[in-house]
Amino acid sequence: MNIETLINIVLGIIVVVLGILLTLKIRGSKDRVHSQKPGINLETNLRDERLKSGIILNAIEDGVVLIDRDGAIQLFNPGAAVITGWSEDEARKLEYKSVIKLVNDRGEPYSVDLNPLDKIFASPSTTIRDNNANLLTRNGKIIPLSISVSPLFDDKKIFNGAVAIIRDVTKERIEEKQRSEFISTASHEMRTPVAAIEGYLALALNDKVSTIDSRARDYLEKAHDSTQHLGKLFQDLLTSAKAEDGRLTSHPRLIDLGEFMEQLSNDLRFIADKKGLSLEFNIGSSDIIDATLGAGGSHKVIKPFYYIKVDPDRMREVITNLFDNAVKYTDQGKITLGLTGDNQIAQLYIKDTGVGIPAEDIPHLFQKFYRVDNSATRTIGGTGLGLYICRRIVELYQGRIWVESNMGKGSTFFINLPRLSTGQAKIEQEKESVTAAAGSQYTPTPSPVLQ
Ligand code: ADP
Repeated sequence: MNIETLINIVLGIIVVVLGILLTLKIRGSKDRVHSQKPGINLETNLRDERLKSGIILNAIEDGVVLIDRDGAIQLFNPGAAVITGWSEDEARKLEYKSVIKLVNDRGEPYSVDLNPLDKIFASPSTTIRDNNANLLTRNGKIIPLSISVSPLFDDKKIFNGAVAIIRDVTKERIEEKQRSEFISTASHEMRTPVAAIEGYLALALNDKVSTIDSRARDYLEKAHDSTQHLGKLFQDLLTSAKAEDGRLTSHPRLIDLGEFMEQLSNDLRFIADKKGLSLEFNIGSSDIIDATLGAGGSHKVIKPFYYIKVDPDRMREVITNLFDNAVKYTDQGKITLGLTGDNQIAQLYIKDTGVGIPAEDIPHLFQKFYRVDNSATRTIGGTGLGLYICRRIVELYQGRIWVESNMGKGSTFFINLPRLSTGQAKIEQEKESVTAAAGSQYTPTPSPVLQ
């Protein structure tokens, strides 16, 4: 080995050692970057997040109340303190029931099945909202409140408490009331002249009292149709405004829904006939073993009575509305009016073979002014108030209304109403007779089974 080779080997070793040292240094510094910098960031981030949430909770006007799984308040932001009148220190650790006292319009405490907080604690599932609640504040004042309660779950999906967001909606309720009053006064005032115009147009179109040429008849018929539409719009606006502020008059009395629908269907048949649609009426029948025929077991088919307690005028309004829609949105086929039920419920349905309703519109259908906007419905006139009014009336009698539909095949609207047993109906009828004898204006129609 000569000197030159030795120098080369030593230089090579130095380069390798330097290389190794350099690699180690770089890795070390990289490790430091990984082990130190993120640590600092995480801490700062957490602190920042807490700071931010604190700032938000303190700044917002809405009340935020965090309740643990035992029902004790754990967090109560300043917004909640202003709304309820309880300070944060007072409210913390107290049971939610003693701080968030919800009451109805008459100032009576919410029942457990109405109170969104009680409902979440009884069976936690999804967020429950109530925009029509009222709160009894610490000072005994009642304020309009909107409340939304969401359940909280731990990572094992076990119920861990709830968070309630509350908002004082005094201003919104006043505005809502003013709007509703305006609509009802305006529609009431406008309904009268519209009715007069409609009446005069009808006279002009009546051959017995007027002589007009065919062109004038054509114009007047169009004017008459539009006036009728306008009259219906004002009537619907008036009814919906009344439904909203609880002024919808209702004089409930005992009726047998089967008999009621049978009578009504005679009037409705005329509307279906006019459009070339057939009408079928199905009333549920049940096979009952007639004990008087002996143990041999003969069967006798009897028509059951579906007793319900509703205002007949309101009920007629609902059925007619659904029926008019069925006719309006059906070009050919038939409309079926049906009634069935069980011991607790009377279920009526109105089925058509019409255009059907798209699935995405169904959840909104019973909202005010909602109309399906597609090629099948665009040319058909309407207000979008009919189904809203139907829902409000049905809810007045603790009922439920919904629809099932198949596009292009037809729709069925269902209504469930609490059904009275024959015994309950008898008691109701006796009460009504007493009221009638005492001079009430409502005379109950005697029902055959109860005489
Ligand atoms: P409208 O005056 O527009 O008929 P409604 O509140 O009665 O108002 O109905 C709301 C919407 O629901 C209608 O615009 C229509 O699109 C749809 N609809 C209601 N009934 C039926 C039906 N039987 N078949 C198909 N669509 C219907």
